[in-house]
Amino acid sequence: YEAKGNDFRVAVYGPEMDSGRIERLALLADLRLALITHPEQFVLQYQPKVDVHSGSVTSVEALVRWHHPTLGVVPPDRFIPLAESTGLIANLTPLVLDAALRECAGWTAEGIAISVAVNLSARNISDENLPGRVAQALATAGVSADQLILEITESSVMGDPAQTLPVLHQLHDLGICLSLDDFGTGYSSLSYLQRLPVGEVKIDRSFVLGLAGDNRANSRALIRSITGLGANLGLRIVAEGVEDQPTLDELRSLGCDIVQGYYISRPLGATDLRTWLARESADAVPRLRLLTSSR
Ligand code: C2E
Ligand code: MG
Ligand code: MG
Ligand code: MG
Repeated sequence: YEAKGNDFRVAVYGPEMDSGRIERLALLADLRLALITHPEQFVLQYQPKVDVHSGSVTSVEALVRWHHPTLGVVPPDRFIPLAESTGLIANLTPLVLDAALRECAGWTAEGIAISVAVNLSARNISDENLPGRVAQALATAGVSADQLILEITESSVMGDPAQTLPVLHQLHDLGICLSLDDFGTGYSSLSYLQRLPVGEVKIDRSFVLGLAGDNRANSRALIRSITGLGANLGLRIVAEGVEDQPTLDELRSLGCDIVQGYYISRPLGATDLRTWLARESADAVPRLRLLTSSR
């Protein structure tokens, strides 16, 4: 079995066709069908991104889950790579974007002023029609461009910069904030950052985890160089994967602006997020506030 873009070919396989591959094929068939006939199986969770100084929620990241009829909840790590390698991501991203923007319009109507962040794949940002489609989605949902953050990864940009850079510039020109996700794991140098029209950088979880490991001096130095550059370039620096208070304290002292992670909140369904937001706005993320006021 071989997939090239949207062109699928079936071949007969011998014993080397292991159960893992068969499982993947079955999952792919289900994925294709679900995207066409049961888009409601793709459900978003939202994880808050919080200002380290004020404790207020600046945005939430939309993270997709697939509610499979027999397998239960399938995490994105299991089906996003499949969607990417087969081109089906072109069908998934619009579903996620529309749902996230609809939710965001609801928050605005309720007086909750937060942005929503949506993850894009390499294929999405190679698509020259993307900026027009995003503009259309914003207009349909009635959400202003500055309430949308699009998360991209270094490697998806660097795959084909000649193709992706014009798309990114058009998205930027629409007034959308681009965020460089999983930063530090790719190949590009820090100096490449100033050539990208990004407003935000998310330091990868591995470096955040590293703050508690044996090599903490390395992680600290790396994070400090990213926040230093961010300050010079006027970029917002986000740390992902924050799981405890000591890490949060250290990230703040290293110059990070925004934190995201299980310590603040796990990704939440739309209803749970509303409950969480109502509680937190009444008490501005107590653990963070406690900390800032005691400094
Ligand atoms: P990501 O964009 O880097 O998202 C962060 C991932 O880390 C999420 O996993 C989130 O649940 C998890 N996470 C957040 N805080 C913590 C923490 O404190 N500790 C730990 N251990 N993990 C934490 P999730 O939801 O499983 O998503 C995995 C990846 O799948 C995402 O990584 C993103 O690359 C991709 N993804 C998710 N939703 C979408 C989507 O709608 N479109 C695309 N293209 N990719 C998506
Ligand atoms: Mg992300
Ligand atoms: Mg990330
Ligand atoms: Mg990550």
